[in-house]
Amino acid sequence: MQTSTTTHAELEQTHTSGVYGKRAVTFVRGTGATLYDDAGRSYLDCAAGIGVANVGHCHPAVVAAIAQQAATLTICPEAFHNDQRAQLQAELTAVLPQMGRVFLCNSGTEAIEAALKFARISTRRTGVVAAMRGFHGRTFGALSATWEPHYREPFAPLVPDFAHIPYNNRAKLDAAVSQTTAAVLLEVVQGEGGVRLGEAEFLHDAQRICRERGALLILDEVQTGFGRTGRLFALEHYDLQPDLLCLAKALGGGMPMGAVGIGARVAALPVGSHGSTFGGNPLACAAARAALRVIQNEDLAHQAAQKGTWLIERLAAIRSPRVRAVRGLGLMIGIELKEKVAPILHTLLHDHSIVALNAGSTVLRLLPPLVIGWNELERLALALETVL
Ligand code: PLP
Repeated sequence: MQTSTTTHAELEQTHTSGVYGKRAVTFVRGTGATLYDDAGRSYLDCAAGIGVANVGHCHPAVVAAIAQQAATLTICPEAFHNDQRAQLQAELTAVLPQMGRVFLCNSGTEAIEAALKFARISTRRTGVVAAMRGFHGRTFGALSATWEPHYREPFAPLVPDFAHIPYNNRAKLDAAVSQTTAAVLLEVVQGEGGVRLGEAEFLHDAQRICRERGALLILDEVQTGFGRTGRLFALEHYDLQPDLLCLAKALGGGMPMGAVGIGARVAALPVGSHGSTFGGNPLACAAARAALRVIQNEDLAHQAAQKGTWLIERLAAIRSPRVRAVRGLGLMIGIELKEKVAPILHTLLHDHSIVALNAGSTVLRLLPPLVIGWNELERLALALETVL
């Protein structure tokens, strides 16, 4: 309980698990691309809850859908049918790349776990080829596919049969996929690894090699999905057709939700082979349906493309000895620095009231809500010019 002498930050610091490094702000409210702290100060949000709030915070259509469904039915396990889930599955598969089936879960790492299990059971093989600098989550399967040693090493031994190849290295990919490979697992744009774009030839090789050698291609669009990169899914930039497509973050419009799109090359999945108590719950499904409608009605992918092109050009024009490179796709943007990013994030937050992210220790990452206004983008660009 908060007392007059204990702040929420102090209270949380006392009782939190300890696994998160926290920044010294307590957010209590949000709307669009604006967050408010407990003193009523407003901030421009260029993190979107780590790429979640693509439609903005508390979009009225999503709020209304959640409120209505919360008063109707919040939980209905998948052992029974449900109206919201049925509609979402139909609406989602209609926009997925030739995928007629979908598995629903509650987070990105769960989507990866499900895809890995589906790949194993479908191919009856065990090997997984993933990429260096790849990030896929914190549970054991996803962690085994994640590259960063700092995340992995404290938890060894991990799941066996995972290999990591350099991202965009076609020869190494070719050499790594064998008759025992169940899946190749890749991000289309690496997010946590520093906002690194996949090269078309590499991604197409991955698809072709999987098809030729009986493996499945799993694309991780947990961060890139739902308009973030300027298309509904980043795979559309490359015209890819994965066998399994992992989604989460923006899917639920702010509610926790993950999903795996399942293509025709994946065998029929035996009843009982996977499951989740909360997966496909009507509350998250109603929120996801509303968020998808907003993304489509407000043409947010197109907006992300236009705004992202403008911002990347503007940032690339900053002449600063501290900047090594600017790269991105749509509103997924990384500024690679020649120094640590933490002090710059601190200055942006406390001097400019702008919330941004890191990707590793030297990349400043921007994932603003796709509804961010042009005047807000101008403010962001000016602040970055000043700080850098
Ligand atoms: N995959 C990618 C590409 C991600 O960026 C993330 C999270 O940042 C995950 C998977 C894991 O998602 P979650 O944190 O919802 O488990």
